[in-house]
Amino acid sequence: MAFEGLSGRLSEVFKKLKGRGKVKESDIKEVMREVRMALLEADVNYKVAKDFVASVSEKAMGSEVLESLTPAQQIIKIVNDELTELMGSTNARITFSSKIPTIIMMCGLQGAGKTTHCAKLSRYFKQSGKRPLLAACDVYRPAAIQQLQIVGEQAGVPVFEMGQGDPVEIARKAVLHARDYGNDILILDTAGRLHIDEELMDELRRIKEAVQPQEILLVIDAMTGQDAVNVAKSFDETLGIDGTILTKLDGDTRGGAALSVRAVTGKPIKFVGTGEKLDNLEPFYPDRMASRILG
Ligand code: GDP
Repeated sequence: MAFEGLSGRLSEVFKKLKGRGKVKESDIKEVMREVRMALLEADVNYKVAKDFVASVSEKAMGSEVLESLTPAQQIIKIVNDELTELMGSTNARITFSSKIPTIIMMCGLQGAGKTTHCAKLSRYFKQSGKRPLLAACDVYRPAAIQQLQIVGEQAGVPVFEMGQGDPVEIARKAVLHARDYGNDILILDTAGRLHIDEELMDELRRIKEAVQPQEILLVIDAMTGQDAVNVAKSFDETLGIDGTILTKLDGDTRGGAALSVRAVTGKPIKFVGTGEKLDNLEPFYPDRMASRILG
């Protein structure tokens, strides 16, 4: 399960502290060193871990903790609050346009789960009473269009496609199609590559300019840890993103991506993918994730 290592390590650190009663500054320093090690082992970005521990230490050194009869509980509470803050503090919602369709542009590297999450998201909105449309703008592999059609059908959501045409034109036509057919949400599946390259970014920028999406969501694979965070940073710098969808949290990811991506990019995690099935999608709640990590 995700975060297993980190949860285990943190619970050991706090167990030692619980056995001690009143704590001294040196005890807190020791605990903070261990928390920092646990974060680094969970593949949390170096600077993020350092800043996190500095912030927790500052709060934990206050007289409230030092004079408390239950200092361990107080420190756990501080860590819990800071973890929540680190991941974005509140649930980040999708921005809807006042005129239809609200356009969500999905991007990401190949294999991250982009096409699957286009369908998951469309299903999620359909269940809340919306009328989504999916559009196949990943034109380089015929299999990608077919894959979108298959998952679209599973989700019960129509798919707009124009074969292997110009992705910018397809996106434009999809907007007109959505307006004509009363689809209030349009989800664009765009091309993925194995690596970020200028050609891919240029195409995404052109789609962005042509249809001005309300949301550009980057799909990243939690299993790839800091690579996912670096990918997010590059996409944000070159394209501009509004948030991320963190996939494969059902795997045994150490958690580094979940804990670092918000701090590194400044953009919130909006949804998490928790399995291959279309209903394995959850809005991301930083507080719930923090509680889960702390067990
Ligand atoms: P794309 O290349 O980014 O469009 O990726 P796909 O949507 O084709 O997904 C790549 C693989 O990851 C597929 O085998 C999916 O079933 C799988 N996948 C996608 N999301 C998740 C998830 O949240 N959990 C797990 N375990 N697998 C996922």
